[in-house]
Amino acid sequence: MGILVINAGSSSVKFALFRFDTLETEARGLLDLTAGPDLAAGEGRAALTLRPSKGEVLTRRLDVPGYHAAVVAALGVLAEVGLCSQQRPVRVVGHRLIHGGEAIRQPVRIDPEVKQVIRQYTHLAPLHIPAGLEAIAATEEAFPHAPQVGLFDTAFFAHVPPAAYIYPLPYEWYEQWGIRRYGFHGTSHAYCTERAAEMLGRPAEELRLVICHLGHGSSATAVDAGVAVTNTMGFTPLEGFMMGTRCGTVDPGILLHVMREKGLPVEQLDETLHKRSGLLGVSGLSADFRELEQAAAAGHSRARLALDVYTHRVKATIGSLVAVLGGLDALVFTGGIGENSHRLRGEACAGLGCLGIALDPQRNLQLRPDADLAASGSPARVLAIHTREDYMIAREAKRLAAGARG
Ligand code: ADP
Repeated sequence: MGILVINAGSSSVKFALFRFDTLETEARGLLDLTAGPDLAAGEGRAALTLRPSKGEVLTRRLDVPGYHAAVVAALGVLAEVGLCSQQRPVRVVGHRLIHGGEAIRQPVRIDPEVKQVIRQYTHLAPLHIPAGLEAIAATEEAFPHAPQVGLFDTAFFAHVPPAAYIYPLPYEWYEQWGIRRYGFHGTSHAYCTERAAEMLGRPAEELRLVICHLGHGSSATAVDAGVAVTNTMGFTPLEGFMMGTRCGTVDPGILLHVMREKGLPVEQLDETLHKRSGLLGVSGLSADFRELEQAAAAGHSRARLALDVYTHRVKATIGSLVAVLGGLDALVFTGGIGENSHRLRGEACAGLGCLGIALDPQRNLQLRPDADLAASGSPARVLAIHTREDYMIAREAKRLAAGARG
C-alpha cells in the first residue's frame, strides 16, 4: 500500500509515493506543464519525469488537453510502471495546499465542504488554489477509494497572536476583507521545528527557534515552545524576504508612486513584483542564487549587489525575530539556498555574536545537512536542515487515514 503526495503548482505538479507502513520514499515525479506550446488552450503537451527509488529514471511527453487531464495521465504512468496497482494500491492521497485562511488550522480529510472552504480563498492565492482543486479532482478520479487529505501552508501559523498578524490599516479591512498576515511555508517550518528538537536532543517546548526557509520562495518563522509566533510572509507570499523573482517587503509608497506618476497599470505592477523583481530584478541576470554566486565570483557587480541585498535582509530579519523571541536556542537554515550556500550562511551570521550566534567557519564549509554548524562555545546552535515537506504530508495523511483525529 502506498501514500501519494501531491504538490500542485500553477505550472508544475510535484508528486511522491511513500510506503504506507514504513514511510519510505518509493518514487518522486515532476509533471512540467510548461513543456508544450499552449497547454491552457488545449493544444500543449506536458513533460513527466519519474524517479523511482530503485530503477531507471523515466521521462515521458504526455499529449493532454489541460491541467486535470495531465495529472490523470501522469498518475496513469505510475500504474503502468507498476508503482501502484491492485496489488500495490494507493491507500491515501495527501495534498499540499497553499491557503486554509482562518478556517482550516490542521490537516483535514477533504470532502465537498472542505473544498468549498478552499474555493472561498481563491482570491488570496489565485494561481495556486485552482491548481490544488484540479489536482484533488484528478486524484479522486484516479483513486476513487482512497481518502484525500489536505495540509495547508498557512496552518502552522494558527496561533500567531493578533499583534503579529494585524496590519496597521483600517481594522474593517481585516473584518470585512480578511486582510491580515497569514504566513506560508508552514509545512517546512513545522518539519524543521521537529527536526531541530530531535537534533538538539531537547523537547520543542523548551526551544526558541528562528527558521529561515531560503529557496526560490523564502520566509522566516520565529517558533517559541514549538508554536509559530510570526512568519515573514503576510497576506500573500510576496511579503518578507527578497526572493528569486518576488520583491519581498518594499515601501507601499513606491507602488502608489509608479502607478500614479509613471502610469504603470496594475497587471504590469503585479507581473513586475512577482516575476521581475528579487534576485532577478536587482541583478538583471538570473533568479538562481547559485548562478549569481558564480557570476559574482567572476566579477559581475550587479550579481554581487543582488546577493548583498539578499544577505542584508536575511541578517536584519534574524535580528528582528530573535527580538520577538527574547533570545535564541537555534537558528535553522533550510531550502535550496539555506541548505547549500555556505557563503550566504557565513555572511548572514557574521557579526551576530551579539545575539549569541557564532558559526564555525570550517563546519559551515564542510558539513552537509542535517548538521550543527555552530562553534562549540556558541550559545545558540546553527543548524542546516534538509526540509522534507512531502514526508510531513505523507505522515499526516497516514495518521488521518488510520482514523486518528487531526
Ligand atoms: P523551491 O523554493 O522551488 O523549492 P529550492 O528550495 O530548491 O526552491 O531552492 C532553489 C534555490 O536554491 C535556487 O536559487 C538555487 O540556485 C539555490 N541553490 C541550490 N543549490 C545551491 C548551491 N549549492 N549553492 C547555492 N545555491 C543553491
